[in-house]
Formats: sequence, C-alpha cells, structure tokens
Amino acid sequence: MPDYISALDLFTIGIGPSSSHTVGPMRAALLFAEEIHAKGHLPNTHSVSVTLYGSLGATGPGHGTTNAIVSGLAGSTPEGCDPNQVLVAWNNAIESKTWHVLNHQIRFSESDFSFQPLMRLEKHSNAMKFRAHAANNDVLLEQVYYSVGGGFVEADHEIIRPQRPEVPNSFINAEHLLDICEREEKTIAQIAHENELFLHGELLLTTKLEAIWSAMENCIEHGLNSKGVLPGYLQVTRRAADMAERLAKFDQNEVSNEWLQAYAIAVNEQNAAGMRVVTAPTNGAAGIIPAVGYYAMKFKGVAREVIQRDYLLVCAAIGSLYKRNASISGAEAGCQGEVGSACSMAAAGLAAVLGGTNQQIENAAEIAMEHNLGLTCDPVGGFVQMPCIERNAIAAGTAVSAVRLAMLGDGSHKISLDTVIETMRQTGVDMSSKYKETSLGGLAVNVVEC
Ligand code: SF4
Repeated sequence: MPDYISALDLFTIGIGPSSSHTVGPMRAALLFAEEIHAKGHLPNTHSVSVTLYGSLGATGPGHGTTNAIVSGLAGSTPEGCDPNQVLVAWNNAIESKTWHVLNHQIRFSESDFSFQPLMRLEKHSNAMKFRAHAANNDVLLEQVYYSVGGGFVEADHEIIRPQRPEVPNSFINAEHLLDICEREEKTIAQIAHENELFLHGELLLTTKLEAIWSAMENCIEHGLNSKGVLPGYLQVTRRAADMAERLAKFDQNEVSNEWLQAYAIAVNEQNAAGMRVVTAPTNGAAGIIPAVGYYAMKFKGVAREVIQRDYLLVCAAIGSLYKRNASISGAEAGCQGEVGSACSMAAAGLAAVLGGTNQQIENAAEIAMEHNLGLTCDPVGGFVQMPCIERNAIAAGTAVSAVRLAMLGDGSHKISLDTVIETMRQTGVDMSSKYKETSLGGLAVNVVEC
C-alpha cells in the first residue's frame, strides 16, 4: 500500500502565487542547500546555477519562481518565510550581486539562471536542475528536482524522508474508501480522522488543523480588506474589498452566493499578491476550499470546529484520490487538475458537514469534477491572475451547486468518482502542452497585453 496522503500534506501554509512555481521551488532550493551542507561542500561553493525547464521556464518569473529559489537556497521555508521579503529576494540579489546558500554568501549573476521553456525532462515538466560550482567552476554537486503540484517535490536521487507507518484504514480509490466506511459503519470524516490521529496524534493534529483553518480565514479577511493593483505588468485591480463593501448594503441572506464568490476572490488576490495562503490543494486553486468552508459557517450555520476538522479532513480525503490516481498539477493535467480537484474536494467537504451520506458525498465530489473535465490552464502573462482568480469564484459556486444536486438524490448515480478521476487523468495526458501552465495557448495568447 503506498504512503497515505495526509490532510497535513495537502494543506500547507505557504505563500503565493503558485504551489508548483513558488512553494515547490522554494522547497527544492532548500533541499539542495541542505545537501550542499550535508556533503561538506558549503565552504567551497562559489556560485550556484539553476536551469528551469518546461512550465517553470515559461512562467517562472511571473509565478515568483526566481524569488522562491533565492529565498529557499538561503534557508527560507514556505511556512516560515516573510512573504514581503520573498517578494524582493530576486531584485535584492541582482542589486547586491550576491545571494546565499544557507548562511554562506556566494556571488550572483542573472546569468546563473537559465530558462528552458521548450525542454521537458522525462519525469515531469516542472523540472529544476541545480549545480553548485567551485571557484574554478568545477561542479561540486548537481541535482534535479521536480515540482509535481501542490508544493510537493520529487527528485531523481533519493530524498531522505522519514518512513510513514501504514494507517489503519488506508484506501486507494473512492470505491475502496466507501467499502471501508460501510464495513466499519463510519462516515468518511470519521475514517479520515482515525487515519490522521494514527499518524499525528491528537494534539498535533488539532493544533495543525486549527492553524490551517485560521490561515484560510485570515487570508479571506485580509483579502476582503485589501485594495490596490496586483503585482505584474497586467495591472489587475483587486476587487474583493469593493465587492464586500457593496454586499454589506444588501439583505445578507439574499447575497450568500455573491459572498461565496467574494471569499474566493479575496483568497486568490492574496495569492496573486504573494501573501500568506494555504495550498489547497494548489495555490492557483487556493480560494475554493476556504470560500466554501467560510460560506458554510456564515450562511449554513456550520460550527467552526466542524469546519476545521470534518470539512478539511473530508476535502483532503478526496484530494488524496486526485493526487494518487490522477494529478493536482496544472502542468500535468491542466486546470482540471487544480481548480477541478479543489472544486470536487470542497463539494465533498460541504456535503459532509451538511449531513450528507457517504454516497451523497462521493456523488457531490463526482458532479463537481465531471463539469470541470477538460479545463485548460492558460494564465495570461504567466501570472496566477487571469483566469485564475475569477475561476476560483465560479468553481466555489459549482461546488455548492454540486452539493445541492447530490443532496436532492439518495447518493445512487451512474458515473462514479473513480471513473471521473481516471477520465481527468486521461484528458490531462491528451491535453496539448500549450494548455498546461506554459502560457502558450488559450487566453494567454489571445488577450492583448499592454
Ligand atoms: S489557469 Fe488554473 S491551473 Fe493554470 S495557473 Fe490558473 S488556477 Fe492554476
């Protein structure tokens, strides 16, 4: 049985604007710095060169990859970094002509970075090659890392990670999960909770889930109070705060759907601004799960404790199926892998906290993905802004609609969640690379940039 994918793996507190292009590369750069140190090369490292392939090479700077790598090499983590310092890391390196491997200063030149958008390494399109050089330019250490979506990092060589014990109720697909629930006479939330308790223990799990939900709430609330223009030459104006001001004037029960959309936009504007967000399951799709959970609290009377435990755990249980059996990476599967997965996860979570049966939850998750199949990734200018921000608002609405449909039925339906997940995987394989985070097709080439 492969490693269980925990809620604490899928929901990580990090920074915008992209889990694949910012969070993953920061982690990869830190891993490389730690390897330089572990192998005793740190004192002899004179420079570091980085090659960014495929989608990282195509949209890297727009997605904050260069800032992330400079920060990660110096020892920053997505969880612990100061987002405002990360935003200026690349420019600081250019100005000072220096950067750091942990606390060891080395010389910097923009030519240390090479962008290869048209080259795809076999294992994954989001690839990074790092080389540490001695003063005579000899290569002291070379490693290739892959940012495989959701901030997860893989490598050609073995990354030493602690072995994870097998959880009591590990599952490989939705059918398996439903069978376990039936056998144990438990809900999906209960099974997920038992698995997480086994892995992390009560105190750590509760503390982490509370931190994750607090970060999601804070992100919504900061986004609803932030005005101005988002970073990048597109000059996209933030709108969540204006929406909130207008919505406050209405009878609140009449504008719940509009608030839902404002919550999602607030998160994705924070993400685009490079601020603190929770990867859920990626940064580009980070608005949907917080928005739907916040909406459930504000308009459906669901208690905060239920959102931070059952809602998040059911979202994650479904998200683990996408990560395991298809992809949550826009570079691999297009936007159906990011926004589609998040929409499906949120639908499952909402159905669970509104009292849906296990079958209705699976049905809601299935409906939500079914109508995201084929969704391409084509961010204008490589920025996680258009269509990403609005797309999260629409997908949050789709998640709520999927729950309404599923809850009107008894859970029986023709197309299973597993079938839809496999369909998404196949559609991703067939999709042209123009529509997989390269900004070489779709809106990215049809919107006139000014
Ligand atoms: S279009 Fe979708 S997959 Fe692509 S960057 Fe935007 S949110 Fe992510």
